[in-house]
Amino acid sequence: MRLKIYGVRGSYPPTNSQHSKIGINTTCLRLDIGKHLIVFDAGTGIINLGHDLVAQWKNKENQQDIFKIHLFFTHAHIDHIMGFPYFNLIYFPQAEFHIISPPFLNHSIQDVLESLMSPVIFPVTFAELPARFHFHGMGENRQVFFYENEFRIFHVSEEHIPSGWLGKISCLRNYTHPKGGTYIYKIQSPEGKSLVFATDIEGFVNGDKRLARFAHKAQVLIHDAQYSWPEYEMFQGFGHSTYEMACEVARQAEVEKLVLFHHDPKHSDAELLELEEKSRELFPESYLATESMEFEF
Ligand SMILES: [Zn+2]
Ligand SMILES: [Zn+2]
Repeated sequence: MRLKIYGVRGSYPPTNSQHSKIGINTTCLRLDIGKHLIVFDAGTGIINLGHDLVAQWKNKENQQDIFKIHLFFTHAHIDHIMGFPYFNLIYFPQAEFHIISPPFLNHSIQDVLESLMSPVIFPVTFAELPARFHFHGMGENRQVFFYENEFRIFHVSEEHIPSGWLGKISCLRNYTHPKGGTYIYKIQSPEGKSLVFATDIEGFVNGDKRLARFAHKAQVLIHDAQYSWPEYEMFQGFGHSTYEMACEVARQAEVEKLVLFHHDPKHSDAELLELEEKSRELFPESYLATESMEFEF
């Protein structure tokens, strides 16, 4: 399995036009499991992902089926969906989307995307899109298994999972993000390796123990670290963490590597690098998430 980061910022893409080597796009991750293409969130990072996929297809670069996309959502805040109308694959008639998502604040993700692409907001409506869309529910009671040629969704209590799966995705609901919470995803390999993606979450005093259990011994934990302490004083309750909170979870979960994510759009590269350095004093294997960062696990 291979994961690549396409968007690292929280809230909105930085608007002060300063050059950033760390990245300017909002949340989007690409995961390859065998020939399956999986995407987490449709922040502005998904626009570059679309360009890469079309280039790959034109150059016949690999065997990935770029026209079959499995799209998961952590939640439906604007920074996590704003790239969707500009994702070029939705305009290809041969594209088939499997959107796998829980509802958010009683709105299905289909409702959300239809609202985003409604005539008053966007010139092309969702119903007019050439691609085909299939919607699948997700939640803590479900797990998604990817096999060589298909994916299947099982209830967590299902005892007879057919063997031969290449990758598994499960989730944990997080209640610390306004106003309906978010979903944290765990990707596991059959060999027992795992990566946990926990964005838009706020920490607890002495660490988020539920998350630490969920991420136990993961190879990689990608964790929200939007605020410095002085900022957190002002924005407590906004649903984001400090690097200290992220480090505490990483330490308790005994993960191999911590990736600080959802960078504040107002933070310069110099400020972010300082944050990384301080973070390493608490958890030595801490890294700032950067656009085009990749993990193999
Ligand atoms: Zn966000
Ligand atoms: Zn959010």
